[in-house]
Amino acid sequence: MSLPSRCPLCQAGPDHQGVVTPWVYGGAPGQAFFHCEACDVRYLFPPLTQDEAMRFYAAEFSGFMEKRSGEGGGWDQPERHVRANQSQWERRWRYLADHLPPQGRVLEIGCSSGFMLYPLEQKGLECLGVEPSGVFGAYVRARGLACYDDMDALVAAGAHEAGFDLIMHFFVLEHMVDPVAAIARQMAMLRPGGRLVFEIPNCADALRTVYDLPAFERFYWSVAHNWYFSEDSTRHLLERLSPNVEILRDQRYDLSNHMVWARDGKPGGMGRFTPVWGEEVERQYREALIASGHCDTLVAILHKD
Ligand SMILES: [Zn+2]
Repeated sequence: MSLPSRCPLCQAGPDHQGVVTPWVYGGAPGQAFFHCEACDVRYLFPPLTQDEAMRFYAAEFSGFMEKRSGEGGGWDQPERHVRANQSQWERRWRYLADHLPPQGRVLEIGCSSGFMLYPLEQKGLECLGVEPSGVFGAYVRARGLACYDDMDALVAAGAHEAGFDLIMHFFVLEHMVDPVAAIARQMAMLRPGGRLVFEIPNCADALRTVYDLPAFERFYWSVAHNWYFSEDSTRHLLERLSPNVEILRDQRYDLSNHMVWARDGKPGGMGRFTPVWGEEVERQYREALIASGHCDTLVAILHKD
C-alpha cells in the first residue's frame, strides 16, 4: 500500500494521515481510504485517474439502464427516473425554496433525467443542465432545456457568460478529483447575490457510526468516491471559498431501510415497514438522526455577495 505524503485537501503532513480502510468497493489492489485528522476529510489514495473515473461512470450508468431493461426502452427509462425521484424533489424543495430567485438562471451539474429542473422551469426560471450520460442529456434537451456534456462544453458554448442565480449539484462533489477548483469555478459563474447549493453524503451516517454494520462498511467505501466529508471537513473546504456558508443536515433513508441493512446486510427496503408503525415514527426517527448529527446527508449553501 502506498502512503500519501500529505492531505490532498488541507496539505497537513504524513503524521496526520491514517488508514480508514484498505477495503475499497470496486477498487484496485493498493488503494485505500485515508483520514486526515487535521481537517477530518477521508479520501481515496491513490485516487482514480480521470480516465478511470470516466470508465467507471459509463459502467455505472449502463448498470442503471440494465436493471431497468425489460421495463420498456427509449424515453420510458428517463421518464421512469423522473417519476422515481419525485420524493427527492419534494425533500430538496423544503430548503431550496428559501434560496430561489423569483426569476433568473439556474444550472444543475449532473442533472441526470432533469427531474430537479422541470419544476423550476415551470416556476418561470431559465434552467440549464450538465449531464455526461448521453441518454439522459438527450432526454433533457428533447424536453427543451439546454444541456451540456460537461462544464467545458458549457463554457465553450458561452452559456456561463450571462451568469447564474443558482448553481446546484447533488451527490457530485464527492466524485470530483479537485473539489476546491470545481467550487471556485462554480462560484465565479454566479451572479452577485447568487447561491451555490449542493448535497454530499455525511460520513457520520448512523449505519456506520452508530450501528457499525460490517456489510454497510464494505458497501460504503466506494472507488466511485474520491472524498467523504463530515461537517468539519465540509466547513474546512468551503470557508476558503465563500465568507457566507450554511451547512444543513438531512436524512434520505428511512427506518425501514436501516432495519433491512441490519437484518439482510444490503440496501433497499424504503417504506417497507412504514404501514406497520406509521409515518409519525418515520418522521421522529429522521428528526432524531438529524438532531444527533448521525444523518446521511449534508446540504451546503454558499452565498455570493
Ligand atoms: Zn487534511
